Amino acid sequence: MRNTGTGNNDLLAGKNSVVTGSTSGIGLGIARRLAAAGANVMVNGLGEQGQVDAAVRSVDDAGPGQVVFSPANMIQPAEISAMVEEAVGTFGTIDILVNNAGIQFVSPIQDFPPGKWDDIIATNLSSSFHTISAATPHMQAAGWGRIINISSLHALVASPYKAAYVAAKHGVAGLTKVVALELAQQNITVNSIAPGYVETPLVTGQITDTARARGITEDEVVRDVMLAAQPTKKFIQIDEIAELVIFLCSDAAASITGAILPVDGGWSAQ
Ligand code: NAD
Repeated sequence: MRNTGTGNNDLLAGKNSVVTGSTSGIGLGIARRLAAAGANVMVNGLGEQGQVDAAVRSVDDAGPGQVVFSPANMIQPAEISAMVEEAVGTFGTIDILVNNAGIQFVSPIQDFPPGKWDDIIATNLSSSFHTISAATPHMQAAGWGRIINISSLHALVASPYKAAYVAAKHGVAGLTKVVALELAQQNITVNSIAPGYVETPLVTGQITDTARARGITEDEVVRDVMLAAQPTKKFIQIDEIAELVIFLCSDAAASITGAILPVDGGWSAQ
């Protein structure tokens, strides 16, 4: 048995999970935490081969279960069906589905490229429809399931210049509620975690450049630029999202369904 991380090492032993967009950032953290809790994990995502291999290896090293990789592109419905079939073929079923893959593009509406709109809606919203609709029959057959959609605080509030992202994330909130109602009596919960700004490599990589461009300190970039709307003035940590995923997978969370759960340092309280 390899390193199984901290606590709950067998909470999800025997459970089979798929985490979309788990070669980086939040998804990778969730995949590692699921593995540490004993689950089998299908990792998915895009990226340069060396980085993908390292990500998959780190999930494998996090726990005792089986870890496999699917390169399915979440923009392509046929690749999504094939990914779900492969997970079922490998593990026998899917018990836990985490829809996390996401991309962003920022532009005023009049200049927003239609192709970017299509890609964001496909990746951030439609992919969750396709994974959920393909995985649900397997959860129904098993009589247990957990579907967790990583949306964003932008599932609840808007910011300018993010038309496609905010529309997609509001859509994820709606999809979460609908499917939760449909599956409410079948031991399958469906929830969405809505993070504020999370400390991922994507976000932290911009701090130095922004500080230089604006002539302010890195601390000021974090507090006054990036986290202007987040009262704690601190990034959310990836582990804080991953721990909530584990809790939602536990029996203690059986009555939490259809919820959009902010993890936002107080952003939505204002
Ligand atoms: P990230 O860029 O580090 O990771 C995104 C992951 O999605 C990567 O594994 C990437 O390969 C994968 N991906 C992107 N397009 C894909 C496609 N077409 N097919 C398959 N995989 C694809 O980003 P992150 O910050 O970890 O974000 C993860 C999720 O969390 C996203 O849905 C994002 O909207 C959401 N989120 C992030 C933040 C934040 O501050 N970082 C805040 C709120 C919500």
